[in-house]
Amino acid sequence: MAELVIRGGTLVTPEGLLRADIAIQGGRIQAIGPQVPGGAEEIDARGLHVFPAVIDVHLHFNEPGRTDWEGAATGSRALAAGGGAVFFDMPLNSTPCTVNAREFDRKRAALEASSITDFGLWGGLVPGNAGEMAELADRGVVGFKAFMCDSGLPEFPRADDFTLFEGLAVAARLGLPVAVHAESHELTQGLSRKMAEKGRSGTRDFLSSRPVVAEVEAIERATRLAGEAGAKLHIVHISSGRGVVAAAEAKARGVDVSIETCAHYLFFTEEDLERLGAIAKCAPPLRDAEQHDALWETLLSGTIEIVASDHSPAPPAMKTGAIMQAWGGIAGVQSTLAVLLEQGHFRRELPLERIAKLTSATPAQRFRIAHKGRLAPGNDADVTLVDLRESYTLEARDLQQRHPVSPYIGAVFRGVVRRTLRRGETIFANGAIAARTQGALVRPHLRSS
Ligand SMILES: [Zn+2]
Repeated sequence: MAELVIRGGTLVTPEGLLRADIAIQGGRIQAIGPQVPGGAEEIDARGLHVFPAVIDVHLHFNEPGRTDWEGAATGSRALAAGGGAVFFDMPLNSTPCTVNAREFDRKRAALEASSITDFGLWGGLVPGNAGEMAELADRGVVGFKAFMCDSGLPEFPRADDFTLFEGLAVAARLGLPVAVHAESHELTQGLSRKMAEKGRSGTRDFLSSRPVVAEVEAIERATRLAGEAGAKLHIVHISSGRGVVAAAEAKARGVDVSIETCAHYLFFTEEDLERLGAIAKCAPPLRDAEQHDALWETLLSGTIEIVASDHSPAPPAMKTGAIMQAWGGIAGVQSTLAVLLEQGHFRRELPLERIAKLTSATPAQRFRIAHKGRLAPGNDADVTLVDLRESYTLEARDLQQRHPVSPYIGAVFRGVVRRTLRRGETIFANGAIAARTQGALVRPHLRSS
């Protein structure tokens, strides 16, 4: 008899929708079928859709060192409430940053003690740390993250072209991807300086200081260097249709590049930034309606491969007031699946199995996370149960993150996450956190498979 059976749900699988039961044993999916035998415990999923839980490949929980901004205890609870069971934490904005094995170990220990979901860790690629990359790979990083422009934090300096090129070559030997924040330092810095000299500090001025061309140019340069180095490249948070097209052109030339966008670029435009203010500030910034629509087109056509949150929280005081001084980051870890259901499935006929691919199957495949990413026998029972018949208005009190600050507050979403399971254990159910145990580090299969 299986420990747990999820009965009567509609499973969202890569092959399509399937009405079936799931038997779970030892945290893994034991069997999927029309009528599996009774379990010691049963979950009635009739009327619900059963998704593979979200794997959020890009976020900042800021632990250790900046847990007053978030922390994995609250961040992972918000992820679970949004249907997620795994996150990859970026090497910043924790302090110290994850740029060597010692800091990897510290972060791992901190997150094992605080996170209710499983997690992977990105290592940092910064000037001077190429010699640390092999040890970070041995520890099990999912890849290395570099900034092509200022990161916003002095302790994580940007990678100049030499640092990036050298890092790409080392990463290629290690068989791991390099993720880049692709915006031109030269352009964004020069334009920002010009705005400051003219005393211009409004929302339109901020947008003008980070134009689409700054993103496109950096994507072209990063893909050129990655192709030359024979490295895997992951471009995080592409904000514009033109940016995606630039990455796709490199891919057509044979560059091994994966394309990520974030939920906020799919939900908001620059008009929303003007309306909402600093709470919706991020970098690259929200785009105009034309680039927003073009971005959606590339998602619907299958060019965008991964959607993440880039949850980048800050204390409320840093997300109010003057736009130029405010923290650049959107706190949306709980809303990725919600955005894809509302804006993708219900408004644009994005098939549910494509949503599962964008948020779970491709993340697991690209970053070689074993036993996750799809509902299949032998895989971890990381599952989220969603009621597509119900809708809700997101309110501040619904947010499980540390500071209830999010531009999504007040938005109406169709599709309610009823329950999230991590390796067979319910960690979120009916609006409340229910985890009894902590999450663990997921390790990619290094230099094999
Ligand atoms: Zn980020």
